[in-house]
Amino acid sequence: FICETSISRRLFSSSSRCMTVMPAWVIDKYGSNDALRFTKNASFPVINYPNEVIVKVFAAGLNPMDVSMRGGYGAATLSRKRDPLNIKQSGSEFPLILGRDVSGVIMECGLDVKYFRESDEVWAAIPPWKQGSLAEFVVLSANEVSHKPRSLTHTEAAAIPYVATTAWSALVNTGGLSKDNCTKKRILILGGSGGVGTFAIQMLKAWGAHVTVTCTQNAEHFVRGLGADHVVDYTAGPVEEPLTTLEKFDLILDNVGGDTERWALTLLKPWSGAKYITLITPFLQNMDRLGIADGMMQTAATVATKALKNLARGVHYRWGFFAPSGPALDEIREMVDAGQIRAVVEETFKFSQVPQAFNKLEKGHARGKTVVEIN
Ligand code: NDP
Repeated sequence: FICETSISRRLFSSSSRCMTVMPAWVIDKYGSNDALRFTKNASFPVINYPNEVIVKVFAAGLNPMDVSMRGGYGAATLSRKRDPLNIKQSGSEFPLILGRDVSGVIMECGLDVKYFRESDEVWAAIPPWKQGSLAEFVVLSANEVSHKPRSLTHTEAAAIPYVATTAWSALVNTGGLSKDNCTKKRILILGGSGGVGTFAIQMLKAWGAHVTVTCTQNAEHFVRGLGADHVVDYTAGPVEEPLTTLEKFDLILDNVGGDTERWALTLLKPWSGAKYITLITPFLQNMDRLGIADGMMQTAATVATKALKNLARGVHYRWGFFAPSGPALDEIREMVDAGQIRAVVEETFKFSQVPQAFNKLEKGHARGKTVVEIN
């Protein structure tokens, strides 16, 4: 191995290691599973800013976003985020490393990093414009990282950050929920058996909400085990029919999309501040399809039209997005270590089995999370 450049080394603390390459799964073009390639020669991450840390990856959680990104979803927006001045050639994001969840150990800290030290056990959700965790090391901003819950193994910890920070962003930042205002609130989660749903059920139950969930009949026992109060089988006929007979809701988290918007907002308590928040938005597709400027215009017009139309009916229509956040993970760690939230790992794969892990993810019907053990 050869030492890093003098610039990156100056930003490192004293025990900087001398590596330039590492093992990783990369893609060199967008496509199906065939695009995944294992290499021992992926570029070793470099600390470019003094608030960054390098994490040695022990486990990497996968999300539907990884399958979408493998196929090129969001490429236009994510490329612009990586290269705001648009000076690099098209395809400069390759070789691209997927994997949005990490649990591991801090290996290096930039000079401004005060909250973490080498060897700290950490977890994080990695923004999609950064290199991912299907590698031996990953570089992150310290504010995206949090100390890992002591009560979880790395494999368990890697099942939580991306779905947890998405649920937190949607329910807390967009939905205005908190541990202090959930008691007696009626929440409906459309799609309760996957990654986001299994986390959101547990968080809302810990905060005292009444939680109704839609899922298939064979997942009923599973979601009840996580705390769901009421379960509606979406395969037994039009799911809106049984839902319409229930008392109305204060908030709906939609993890399903499709035709749900047609009927879901009628299930909210009108003129009470009730909100419908969907995670299924056309935001990135619009930019991919129309380019950044026109895509932004189209997106703004779509969300504004829907929000205004529903406001006139006394309910709030919102889009929810993943938002990386170390501080949110700090709060989630407390809940995990207090036994209020558990990791729901459906299946684990070895580092050599990343294509199989993607195959599993693509089949759908998740019951929790898929995790790859790296070390
Ligand atoms: P998963 O794949 O882990 O889970 C999806 C779950 O939904 C599965 O358990 C599936 O099981 C169930 N499901 C499928 N169809 C229905 C239906 N009609 N009604 C009820 N349940 C259904 O996905 P995630 O939980 O990780 O994510 C959920 C969605 O949110 C994804 O589309 C994802 O792309 C999106 N997302 C968006 C983000 C954003 O920033 N906007 C961030 C994170 C996620 P089964 O098919 O057996 O019923």
